[in-house]
Amino acid sequence: MTILVTGGTGYIGGEVIDLLLARGHSVHTTVRDAPKSEPRLRARWPEAGDRLKVFQADLMDDAGWAEANAGCDAVAHVASPFPLAVPKDKDELVVPAREGTLRALEFAHRAGISRFVQTSSAAAIAYGQPHKDQFTHLDWTDLTAGVPPYIESKTVAERAARDWVALHAPEMIFCSVNPVAVFGPVHDDDMSTSVELVKKIIDGSIPLIPDMGICVTDVRDVAEAHVRAIEAPAETVRGERFPTSEKFLWLREMADVIRQRAPEHAGRVPRRAMPDWLVRLLALFLDEMKQIKGELGNVRDVSGTHTEEVLGFTFIPAEQTLEDTVRSLVAKGIVKG
Ligand code: NAP
Repeated sequence: MTILVTGGTGYIGGEVIDLLLARGHSVHTTVRDAPKSEPRLRARWPEAGDRLKVFQADLMDDAGWAEANAGCDAVAHVASPFPLAVPKDKDELVVPAREGTLRALEFAHRAGISRFVQTSSAAAIAYGQPHKDQFTHLDWTDLTAGVPPYIESKTVAERAARDWVALHAPEMIFCSVNPVAVFGPVHDDDMSTSVELVKKIIDGSIPLIPDMGICVTDVRDVAEAHVRAIEAPAETVRGERFPTSEKFLWLREMADVIRQRAPEHAGRVPRRAMPDWLVRLLALFLDEMKQIKGELGNVRDVSGTHTEEVLGFTFIPAEQTLEDTVRSLVAKGIVKG
């Protein structure tokens, strides 16, 4: 098959391309700045030749999308803004996430493409429900409770996609992959916001550990879910949501795992807890701490069991994922060993 992967420069987009090429498919990919990005992509897959074609297209502009979709059998729509800092105006995230998804769907439909996999997020599953701590593919984030802009952007984009398909292309085989926080091997220093967390744990920039936790998934499993969602029989995946999540870990447990699995790189991994009062105080001045403040003590345990059962594979253990993240950050020279 020939698959369009939007956002080929991204952490997840790159891994999806990697797996598609390894499985013998051809890939079209969109990037925002082709002269800058194409050499980087060609260097990563020197053997791909004509099996990889790079197109310039922005989520907020029609240019390039028709060409990128031409001749494709399926789309993995991965591109969406995922910045480290929270923007002042939430529309910087919500508008491109929503409009970009609808643009990708419309151009895919016009090109006669019948299968579309959206990279959504656990952000569209597990927020705005303060009294709940276990979540599955059946849960939806409640936007009426007021959630941070990134969470809103992913929820709005997935809702909009499902509504659009129901109204304009009910025959389309649409499904979403909903990863929790994604870690795993990195290929260069242009890495995702999620991997920054492990980088900060091992490079000493987090001196004390706040009382917060996250679910962990491996970028290789996220790619596997996308590729299986493209290759599986239509009725297995139509309308589905595929959370990828191996397990929930407190940050102090992540630090312990890194100490056990990669002790030679764990010299700067923090041991002591950051008291909640200090997080609240720092949140008055630091944006990053504002985000952490809202998560203190929260459990958001998203189950990926449904995905493993329906798509037929087993997730990589979180301990392995964290070890591989640390080792690749050091191997690529992003963090000093
Ligand atoms: P990433 O490395 O930052 O990749 C984001 C990609 O989106 C980049 O290729 C970026 O292109 C592209 N993009 C952003 N704004 C765009 C625009 N206006 N027009 C065209 N392309 C645009 O992040 P990632 O972790 O791989 O995230 C990929 C997807 O997974 C996103 O949809 C994200 O919401 C989702 N996700 C990520 C995680 C996680 O923990 N990493 C968890 C759940 C879901 P440029 O290179 O040009 O900026």
